[in-house]
Amino acid sequence: MSDALPPLREVIREFDLRAKKSFGQNFLLDLNLTRKIARVAGDLADSVVYEVGPGPGGLTRGLLAEGAKRVVAVEMDERCLPALAEVSRAYDGRLTVHQGDALDMDEPTLLAPQPGETLRIASNLPYNVGTMLLIKWLTLDEWKPWFASLTLMFQREVAERIVAKPGSKAYGRLSVLAQWRGKVRIAVNVPAAAFTPPPKVASAVIHYEPSEPLDATVKLKDLELVVERAFGQRRKMLRASLKSLPVNAGELLAKADIDETRRAEDVSVEEYVRLARTYAEMRDA
Ligand code: SAM
Repeated sequence: MSDALPPLREVIREFDLRAKKSFGQNFLLDLNLTRKIARVAGDLADSVVYEVGPGPGGLTRGLLAEGAKRVVAVEMDERCLPALAEVSRAYDGRLTVHQGDALDMDEPTLLAPQPGETLRIASNLPYNVGTMLLIKWLTLDEWKPWFASLTLMFQREVAERIVAKPGSKAYGRLSVLAQWRGKVRIAVNVPAAAFTPPPKVASAVIHYEPSEPLDATVKLKDLELVVERAFGQRRKMLRASLKSLPVNAGELLAKADIDETRRAEDVSVEEYVRLARTYAEMRDA
């Protein structure tokens, strides 16, 4: 590692940053690994990277060392701020840190992009709010959204749900939300032992890039509704699980050309999108 800063173990000792469970703190101390994760995020030269939860700065240093033009971070734990101020100094002020809760942030305002800058999100997310943040970013009304990519660490089980294909147990609401207007893959598998302290389960980094929606006429809230009803009773046939929609379920499935005896986990993302469009047409007729 080529930055002038001390190793992360020393930083943690110097600033007394013992990991707190309440903040979901599991730190990455291997800067080779954090640089590898930073490289997954793409070409960072023109990028402003939004990082949630920099902690002692492992991933932050990875992003800066890999050439991020700027990193804007939000950290809830004020104990980390002095250590992060040193990172900012070592990287000529390319790091800005805000103290607060990432769930409350209006990111585009915080990032204040200049012309020509690409906005990306890269974070080793706190497990307790990781899925909520992902859903916040995947359910923005404006699409394409303000970010060009998401590079995010999750528990492996959550990462598998995000990338899951139909026919698997992991396939569900999160898979459809992530895949109907974006491309997503697992980029790095990270064992529990890579963290300090090690969590109980393994992790994985996903990389997501927004794309055009499969059908631009479909409204997110209609898709969310049919998906939520279908997976709410995932073992039932669709004709039963979709009964609570305010249209006739049998007719809806026939019009969308989806066999009413199929079950939620066998329906493809394309078919859910078709179902949502047909549902909206019937409801508005
Ligand atoms: N990025 C560091 C690393 O990779 O070593 C730390 C990752 S740790 C899993 C999660 C970090 O998110 C912690 O530093 C924690 O204090 C912070 N955090 C937890 N909840 C947060 C929230 N709601 N908003 C902002 N930061 C939060």
